[in-house]
Amino acid sequence: MSIAVLRLGHRLVRDDRTTTHVALVSRAFGCKKIFMSDVDDSILETMKKVCADWGGSKEFDIEIIQNWKSVINSWKKNKGIVVHLTMYGVNIENLSLDFGYNKNILVVIGASKVPKEVYSLADMNIAVGNQPHSEIAALAIFLDRFFQGKELISTFQNAKMSIIPSSHGKTVKIRKPKN
Ligand code: SAM
Repeated sequence: MSIAVLRLGHRLVRDDRTTTHVALVSRAFGCKKIFMSDVDDSILETMKKVCADWGGSKEFDIEIIQNWKSVINSWKKNKGIVVHLTMYGVNIENLSLDFGYNKNILVVIGASKVPKEVYSLADMNIAVGNQPHSEIAALAIFLDRFFQGKELISTFQNAKMSIIPSSHGKTVKIRKPKN
């Protein structure tokens, strides 16, 4: 089973920060991959640096796509489940997030208005509450419910730095480079 994110409708410059945060949440909260349309190089640079410093370049992948519909269609063709997060969907509070054994899940989130077709292509339209808020919040809450909190204690391979949790201050362990 793996979970990936499809980011729709990135508006150049205006959405740079939000899309960066969507990618950071995807990596930190257990997704294997994010598909996004043409974005500013700074977003890719930020993600590359985060993965180089904190790990994840082996576990987390970014794919720049031209055609969101073909990503959804090929996901479905490979028997994956497509979930669209939207305030108009079924409230997550009233749903079981059991999508079946070993199913790969694609979580679709928007930036601005999402094309109508997405609602019918998705296997399920899920609302994280039926109020408008943010794709970053919706994605984080969906993933946390899906993984039942276990994503919060996962670690990444090849991290140069890792945090030693403490209730006061900042303690970071730096891995010694191999000769
Ligand atoms: N007005 C837009 C629309 O019609 O979809 C909402 C844009 S909202 C800022 C950006 C994205 O956040 C949405 O496409 C959706 O993926 C996500 N989102 C916002 N509120 C949500 C909610 N209550 N539940 C699930 N996803 C939500």
